[in-house]
Amino acid sequence: MRGRIHSLESMGLMDGPGIRFVVFMQGCKLRCAYCHNPDTWDLQGGSEMEPRELMDRILRYIPYFKASGGGVTFSGGEPLLQSEFLLEMLKLCRAAGIHTALDTAGVGNGRYKEILELTDLVILDLKHSTAQGYKDLTGLDISVLEPFVQTLADSTADVWIRHVVVPGITDSSEHIIRMKDMIRRILNVAKVELIPYHSLGENKYTELGYSYRLAGVEPLSSEQLKILEALLKEGSNEAGF
Ligand code: SF4
Repeated sequence: MRGRIHSLESMGLMDGPGIRFVVFMQGCKLRCAYCHNPDTWDLQGGSEMEPRELMDRILRYIPYFKASGGGVTFSGGEPLLQSEFLLEMLKLCRAAGIHTALDTAGVGNGRYKEILELTDLVILDLKHSTAQGYKDLTGLDISVLEPFVQTLADSTADVWIRHVVVPGITDSSEHIIRMKDMIRRILNVAKVELIPYHSLGENKYTELGYSYRLAGVEPLSSEQLKILEALLKEGSNEAGF
């Protein structure tokens, strides 16, 4: 069995607790308008690796990430699209006592229950709160998310929610209130982060010959971000949302 890997990052600081060895897996079926990594979309791109080969690379960095309370994060692209390979990697990490995180949009090809039983932390990127908004932003029907979210709600994995706030698309108060309702359906949510949109990935679209749908959209201001964060916390539960 071989997995398709886009790239590896040995000192990730944004993708879970502590220092993370981040495995960016190749392939994604969504087409998020703000995606920074359109070079991960192609399901046939990247380079192939066997689980043991990747594990040997990970083990070289174990002294760095273990000492920091970190671990390994599977990101992408969409790691859930390579469920067999992901499962094998999660088993190897569990056997080695390594903390695992899954950075996902929740749209893969199944085996979610088995995957979640072997995952310590899920970082879930919720895209939009309405069916039309989800379709416009990602190109897919919002129903594709349901199997994973339902399985996650029944699991014991810790969950962090990440949500990219794009001016004119996901920055209204009504939207944030609907997001709060969506998040409360998922148990074990320990943290909710609003990520302000920025256009740093735009040049990759030009290089790949793709059109960038958010051309001309200004980055979110820090003032507006604070307003939405306060709204998210209003009437909050113990976890702060
Ligand atoms: S799910 Fe992630 S990798 Fe896929 S298009 Fe959206 S932002 Fe990009």
